[in-house]
This record gives sequence, structure tokens and C-alpha cells, in this order.
Amino acid sequence: MSEQSETSLANQTAQEITNPGEAGDQAVGGRHSVPVQGAPGPMPNFAKGGGVVPTIVQDYQTGEVLMLAYMNEESYKRTLATGRATYFSRSRNRVWMKGEESGHIQIVREILVDCDEDTLLLKVDQIGGAACHVGYRSCFFRRVTRDGFETVGEKVFDPEKVYGRKNP
Ligand SMILES: [Zn+2]
Repeated sequence: MSEQSETSLANQTAQEITNPGEAGDQAVGGRHSVPVQGAPGPMPNFAKGGGVVPTIVQDYQTGEVLMLAYMNEESYKRTLATGRATYFSRSRNRVWMKGEESGHIQIVREILVDCDEDTLLLKVDQIGGAACHVGYRSCFFRRVTRDGFETVGEKVFDPEKVYGRKNP
């Protein structure tokens, strides 16, 4: 459980959250999250990765790895300020909040930084039960075998219904 880390994160916070008004708050209801308001403090080493740090995303309750994404400084700051996982898309070259289109946002419960300060680990509450845009709980829903990729994950939603279009 992350109670202790939540407390230490919260202790760095001088003020209460003043801007939690992101999309998805309705769906979240009374869930507790760990936004950090104000100055974000020491920064991960963004320069090392050309402005981004790889970010591993884990279900905070089960430890299941849900996805890997990248954060730049802006998305990192927004994540801290809002408590909603916000990443940097290298292909679209822009900051995006996870779930901004699907509603499947991620409530950040804990953020860990590695020894080199160039990789982050987010522990999140995955709203909607699936992190992957093609409908699986984890992006790692296929196993590599000699014969190819074998689907081992469970499909949680139909992407055509969630996004209203066919995925590429
Ligand atoms: Zn995915």
C-alpha cells in the first residue's frame, strides 16, 4: 500500500489542491489521489533522454504493469499539479492527459524515481479498468512465442465504442 508515500508526498505540499477541475473528476467520485500543488521540487533528468523520461505505469493495487509512456517537463508538472497521469506523445509531439479522449484517466497514487533519476514509475488507479487504447487492461497483452505474438490478456472494452472509430 502507498499510505506512507502518500503522506510524504502530501507533506511536501504547502497548499491544498486548488485546481482539480480536470475532466474525469465526476467519474472518480470520492477517490483519494495525490496531487502536489505548487513548485514540483527536484526534477528528473529530462535532458538525458532528449527532453523526455520513460515512465513505467503500474496498477497501484496489483502491481501489474499497465503501459510505458514518456513524460517531458511540462507533462511531469501537470501530473504533479493535477494528480492525473499526463504524458508526452513523441509521435504526436504533444502533451496529453491519459484518458482525455476515452475517459479512462489514471489517478496517480504514487510516483517513484529511479537511481539515475532518468526513469519514473507511476502507481495509478486506472479508471475504466483498461490502460490500453485497444481495449486491454495492460498494453502488454501479447506474449512473444516462437510462432509469433500470442494474446494472453483479457479484453476489457471495445475500442470502437469508446473512441467511436476504428483504431489504426
Ligand atoms: Zn496500449
